[in-house]
Amino acid sequence: MIEVLQLTKHHRNTTAVDDVTFAVRPGRVTGFLGPNGAGKSSTLRMILGLDSPSSGTALIDGMRYRELRHPLRTVGALLDDAGPVPERRAIDHLRWIAQSNRLPGRRVAEVLEVVGLAHATRRRVRKYSLGMRQRLGIAAALLGDPEILILDEPVNGLDPEGIRWIRTFLRDYAAAGRTVLLSSHLMTETADTVDDVVVIDRGRIVTQGPLVEVTAGH
Ligand code: ADP
Ligand code: ADP
Repeated sequence: MIEVLQLTKHHRNTTAVDDVTFAVRPGRVTGFLGPNGAGKSSTLRMILGLDSPSSGTALIDGMRYRELRHPLRTVGALLDDAGPVPERRAIDHLRWIAQSNRLPGRRVAEVLEVVGLAHATRRRVRKYSLGMRQRLGIAAALLGDPEILILDEPVNGLDPEGIRWIRTFLRDYAAAGRTVLLSSHLMTETADTVDDVVVIDRGRIVTQGPLVEVTAGH
């Protein structure tokens, strides 16, 4: 369970997140939707303890990220950032994350299998396609077998096959009773992936609720 309570983030001259409140329930895929610059990444970074709020709180299972006893076993995240070192082999990238977070080494082969990269584990990341990089990022997020998965813009630039794979994967993850928060500015590409939506624009929540209710009457 993720709870965001009256969260606000001011940068030097903008208010990226403005009094945002929502909850993300287990067993559902929640879409965090809004145009570029709406405040999605800023919100996710505060949930993940990477930025501190100007005011308000983001809680995971009732705790701030930094207070979690086993952060990677609780939350896995794919962020919209640079990603792994291009010269590194995929398997070494995952081994390094597992080792530095004291996660069992056997998880590396397991997550590579789950994301469909078992055939390319020794290839260097620079030779990976965008779709393969997204899968590798998801594999890294899965190393701790987390209850909660947070993905920032995972379908950006993916072909239909890649988008389909992410959809199936996230639907299955949520169906197993876990919590999935998926951010995107691509409403149509994500509409049949999500159960609930939280729509943000210019830092403020525009609407939230089950997709069927939010889209009724539009
Ligand atoms: P802040 O102290 O405002 O939170 P950060 O330390 O996060 O700033 O980022 C440092 C600088 O990088 C910011 O002042 C800003 O100029 C720039 N910057 C980083 N990310 C962005 C972004 N998404 N949009 C605009 N500027 C950015
Ligand atoms: P989204 O993820 O929805 O595209 P962001 O959270 O990245 O939105 O950005 C929200 C707003 O805050 C944008 O106007 C962006 O330029 C600004 N912003 C984000 N990070 C920084 C930063 N570190 N410094 C200054 N401005 C930032």
